[in-house]
Amino acid sequence: MLEGVNFIMRMSDIIAVKKSGKANTQEEINFITKGILDGTVPDYQLSAWLMAVCLQGMDFDESYMLTQAVVNSGDIIDLSSLGDIIVDKHSTGGVGDKTTLILAALLAAAGIPVAKLSGKGLGFTGGTIDKLESIKGFRAALSNEEFIEQVKNVGAAIVSQTSNLTPADKKMYELRDVTSTIESIPLIAASVVSKKFAAGSNVIVLDVKCGSGAFMKTLKEAEELSVTMTEIGKRAGKPIICVITSMEQPLGNTVGNGIEVYESIETLQNKGPDDLNELCLYLGAISLIKAGKVKTMEEGKELLTQKLKDGSAFEKFKQIIKAQSGDLEYLENPEKLIQTKFEYELISENEGYVNKLDALTVAKASKALGTGRDKKEDTIDYTAGLRLYKKIGDKVNKGEPLAKIYANSEISGQNSKEILNQAYELSIEKPQTPQLIIKVIE
Ligand code: URA
Repeated sequence: MLEGVNFIMRMSDIIAVKKSGKANTQEEINFITKGILDGTVPDYQLSAWLMAVCLQGMDFDESYMLTQAVVNSGDIIDLSSLGDIIVDKHSTGGVGDKTTLILAALLAAAGIPVAKLSGKGLGFTGGTIDKLESIKGFRAALSNEEFIEQVKNVGAAIVSQTSNLTPADKKMYELRDVTSTIESIPLIAASVVSKKFAAGSNVIVLDVKCGSGAFMKTLKEAEELSVTMTEIGKRAGKPIICVITSMEQPLGNTVGNGIEVYESIETLQNKGPDDLNELCLYLGAISLIKAGKVKTMEEGKELLTQKLKDGSAFEKFKQIIKAQSGDLEYLENPEKLIQTKFEYELISENEGYVNKLDALTVAKASKALGTGRDKKEDTIDYTAGLRLYKKIGDKVNKGEPLAKIYANSEISGQNSKEILNQAYELSIEKPQTPQLIIKVIE
């Protein structure tokens, strides 16, 4: 740069740098996020830059710089009054994933504060907040003060975002959604991690889902995303631990909203399905280690198992729901969560072993019941959903039910049944059950 000469930064030059495959500077990235907020960077230029990033990628330093710029574009929640180490478990999203509901209560019962901001879902089923809202009266929109007070008094709170966190990400995500630029690893990494940093945590355990029902379809993609996110964490001085887990078939035996709360209750009462239980104990034990509560995974899993067995994890869940005005009748009598007008069974026409239970197809079968939304204004069906009696590796007899469908209209129930039938594939030989926990990257 020439001494004494002031260069005016222009968005077209910033796009050109990225288009040519070079790295953008922090100043250039800040220029973009500031321009998103004050309207000086129009959508067409932002879209062109996003496409350039999508095609050329970003190195780890740039990914970190983008994350920081996005964090600084909005409010940052201060959770320091809750302690020095604030652990947040987050999932990149999968079918039947209700671990947040279980872990919040489980970790709080083990003495770790859980301050969880969650979202309403766009997609096949609702997000964590939608699931919780299937409990009558549940209040998700707490103020920041109420949120922190509840974590101090009860040990955990799960709330929807009320403050203005990462507004630059919101705008970028909207544009990515309509410009075919969602699947860029650095953009996904910055989007996920910035929201976690802004939400106030300083140790982040990320469940990176991999397979048919996940954003990342292959292990290679999941590894690449995990490495990028852990590198961002290192640069920010906030450890990020990525646990890559399989999403070839749904997690647990239920998919929907209220029905997933039902299964969470069963799991908190130590009656949960093996895969869901295994994942909750694994992610929980990592969180306990990072919070300095235990030294080994074995010790962590043992402590958490004890909280499931002695009833304290379920008791903590009730306290959380009560503090957020939810009707405890729904927890004592969870059948209330799945009271639909119609119930159907999917019956197996053959004998064999379940060889495949495609997560994405199951998600579509659930969506056919109205459990998800396309636009954020859409309403969702809280009581509809699926209970899977058979999963990969299970023996099935001819005429035996594979799954149950809870529907609020005959048409949606029949549609869902037809779709669900396509998710199942039987074989004569017993297949290997897929490994749930694939790899940890930190
Ligand atoms: N989830 C996010 O929060 N952001 C992305 O970009 C993709 C998935």
